[in-house]
Amino acid sequence: MAAVGLQRKRLLRDEDMTKVEFETSEEVDVTPTFDTMGLREDLLRGIYAYGFEKPSAIQQRAIKQIIKGRDVIAQSQSGTGKTATFCVSVLQCLDIQALILAPTRELAGQIQKVAPGWGRGYNLSVCGSAVGRLQQEAEVGLFSPDMIRRRSLRTRAIKMLVLDEADEMLNKGFKEQIYDVYRYLPPATQVVLISATLPHEILEMTNKFMTDPIRILVKRDELTLEGIKQFFVAVEREEWKFDTLCDLYDTLTITQAVIFCNTKRKVDWLTEKMREANFTVSSMHGDMPQKERESIMKEFRSGASRVLISTDVWARGLDVPQVSLIINYDLPNNRELYIHRIGRSGRYGRKGVAINFVKNDDIRILRDIEQYYSTQIDEMPMNVADLI
Ligand code: ADP
Repeated sequence: MAAVGLQRKRLLRDEDMTKVEFETSEEVDVTPTFDTMGLREDLLRGIYAYGFEKPSAIQQRAIKQIIKGRDVIAQSQSGTGKTATFCVSVLQCLDIQALILAPTRELAGQIQKVAPGWGRGYNLSVCGSAVGRLQQEAEVGLFSPDMIRRRSLRTRAIKMLVLDEADEMLNKGFKEQIYDVYRYLPPATQVVLISATLPHEILEMTNKFMTDPIRILVKRDELTLEGIKQFFVAVEREEWKFDTLCDLYDTLTITQAVIFCNTKRKVDWLTEKMREANFTVSSMHGDMPQKERESIMKEFRSGASRVLISTDVWARGLDVPQVSLIINYDLPNNRELYIHRIGRSGRYGRKGVAINFVKNDDIRILRDIEQYYSTQIDEMPMNVADLI
């Protein structure tokens, strides 16, 4: 009984997932049910069997446009079902090959795991396994850019390119690689961009590779989720962060928590220090061997580990619904990352709490974030555990 009550407390009402205001570049039909989207029977069955009853706001708008063949730029808040938006659309078009690019292996792997639940008979491959094999009919390739070996990726039959976390994929680090891939795609390739954050400069460059795209965007002041409460702790100095974190440990383990640091070294250091103090924590960053990254992900997804210390490799896209607390041990280096990091909690209408550790000279940055997204970041109350 208590567990049911708790579950209910954590979930917002269903309508909250469908009541989002968008700014669109033209009139966009809203399809309120999966039934009326014109999906294939087996796909529809797959969606219901997976447990989805009603499409979220972005699914109600974007799926139909993608299926129609339009180039689409789709933005919606973190945890509101963007993955299903593009996967359902891709799976509906059985006779095409699509290339889905995501910024990290973990995210590509997650998409690969969940998508077959919605459409059967599909050949979804990820990483090296798909490279060079993307010539069969109806195959979807999922890659992160570091997986792409251009010479062995056959691109002739690709009809659709999806960039998940599009602003990250078009950022400095990846942009050249994406353009490289794009140049090898047939000129008529449909392009779909998806992200919770799409800064102006990214939207501006889309005319280079998209044709008359339909834009479905969220206003900046609507981007933070009601369900995620944001707080700060004035730690004043770097040295005081560690004790603050130790004091919060019991709160961290109420469900599951992710702690973000800005560098791999700091992740290693903090992990070590927490363990020395006899706290149980896991950690993950991009310098760890792939095998180890995989087993840490598995442990965390299963709930076997409850506190994860990570870098921004964990900031985007990853969906572990039990995560309800985010700690920014270091404030993120840009405004977009803030949205993605805190969005690891509060998945699909659940409640979340984000706590920012701020040194004296960080207060300015925090106020900037607050103002930019027209949101509220209060001092952490004593009873923060009650909010989780
Ligand atoms: P985003 O990519 O927008 O951050 P995800 O696609 O990862 O969000 O979805 C977040 C969570 O919501 C996932 O656990 C997913 O299974 C769930 N979800 C997505 N669409 C629906 C839906 N229509 N009904 C119920 N749950 C959904």
